[in-house]
Amino acid sequence: VSHDFQSPLMNIQGYADLLKTVEGEEERIEYAEVIERETKRLSNLTKQLLLLTSLDQEAYPLKVTDYSLDEQLKAVIRKYRWRMDEVGIELSYKIPAATIRADEELLENVWENLLTNAIKYNREDGTIGITLEQDGKTRVIISDTGTGIPEDEMSQVFDKFYRVDDSRTKEGTGLGLSIVRQIISLHGGEVAIESELGKGTRFIITLPSKEN
Ligand code: ADP
Repeated sequence: VSHDFQSPLMNIQGYADLLKTVEGEEERIEYAEVIERETKRLSNLTKQLLLLTSLDQEAYPLKVTDYSLDEQLKAVIRKYRWRMDEVGIELSYKIPAATIRADEELLENVWENLLTNAIKYNREDGTIGITLEQDGKTRVIISDTGTGIPEDEMSQVFDKFYRVDDSRTKEGTGLGLSIVRQIISLHGGEVAIESELGKGTRFIITLPSKEN
């Protein structure tokens, strides 16, 4: 953890120092952008770490209500549509109407984490698929045509701060999937991964039926 906080802080300090004396307009903007990026990174990291810490408490109080899962998924898609357009990712989805009894705010976190990963680790002009199925249980499947996850690392990606080596060129904290797993398990559900290296990955989230 300490390294994850230290390195952006060092960068911010270093570039703030440089800013004081820099002459050129271009460099000034470049340094300010580094500071902006590193601040964002710290802010993300802090937010995720705080969430994970509160979820780790033994009796996290879920705020459970009945709500429309299809609307929630479509809202998350709308939120990231521009990013997919930007990198030429095509999205197809099959999201029929479905209500669910769950903590709406926490589950939004789950879909956001999985969708942003599907975008981030995808190839250029790749595709993403989102499917919702409800037959007693509720299942959401998010698939991508990205890098895939090596078989022997599939269980580790849920560990705090764990990142597959190849992913380190991308911005990230290694906390997203730990949060996903923790939230789904608080709901009595399961997360499964199917993945093939170089081909893509499917995350399958199963949530128990409302009666449970
Ligand atoms: P982050 O994305 O911030 O690194 P996560 O906890 O969300 O952290 O994911 C952990 C690691 O799992 C990622 O660093 C990446 O190596 C791998 N991973 C997650 N989602 C995918 C995906 N859709 N395709 C390929 N690799 C993935």
